Amino acid sequence: MGTSVSIKDLSLSFGSVNVLRKLDLDISEGEFLVLLGPSGCGKSTLLNCIAGLLDVSEGQVIIKGKNVTWAEPKDRGIGMVFQSYALYPQMSVEKNLSFGLRVAGVPKAEIAKRIARAAEILQIEPLLQRKPSALSGGQRQRVAIGRALVRDVDVFLFDEPLSNLDAKLRSELRVEIKRLHHKLGNTMIYVTHDQVEALTLADRIAVMKGGVVQQLDEPMTIYNKPRNLFVAGFIGWSA
Ligand code: ADP
Ligand code: MG
Repeated sequence: MGTSVSIKDLSLSFGSVNVLRKLDLDISEGEFLVLLGPSGCGKSTLLNCIAGLLDVSEGQVIIKGKNVTWAEPKDRGIGMVFQSYALYPQMSVEKNLSFGLRVAGVPKAEIAKRIARAAEILQIEPLLQRKPSALSGGQRQRVAIGRALVRDVDVFLFDEPLSNLDAKLRSELRVEIKRLHHKLGNTMIYVTHDQVEALTLADRIAVMKGGVVQQLDEPMTIYNKPRNLFVAGFIGWSA
């Protein structure tokens, strides 16, 4: 299997603070990779560099073999789902889903087709005419995922998409995101500080601390063979 996203020697500073330090990471085509680490370790910063929302200080971001380090977000083939839903409150769900496509000039019939497919996959068909204010938190997050889905992207980026939801919804949506990954087979990069989420969702987990990847392995390897004290402590391991 080929490489989907490749991060090479990536550094990023805010002023004099080095948030990412010569970070290397290769993510395979179709892989579900979880970036796991404590608050402030640079997870969102890394995701935003991949999305093209931050200028890197040094290094490269390569997506599907193309150097996109300085490419616009829209030219990267990525879709992003944030922690807060960022839906347009004045628009119906259907309009929220179609807005970006209309801006991009996608033909109407194609838009309708993509919305129907996303709505079916995410089971939001009955909600299409509602406004976001008439949705539950879980339904809103489904719509947010739907917006990435209709764009037909290669890579999905999730930044703590479930952290605003209660425990029950969190575990429900976790199952759904996993199902979505099985169904679509896209590369997914998923940021969380939640160990259980990481262990249940990931094909591989990259454990981060201080802007550096401490260990990159399959969940059971991370759990059974933590490479250092930090990883062991963070994953909740005890001898
Ligand atoms: P995480 O997502 O892992 O919680 P972030 O990537 O958001 O961490 O942040 C990493 C570090 O960078 C933190 O110390 C944070 O305070 C700092 N940081 C993030 N964004 C900015 C910014 N726009 N300006 C200055 N510092 C920032
Ligand atoms: Mg974050």
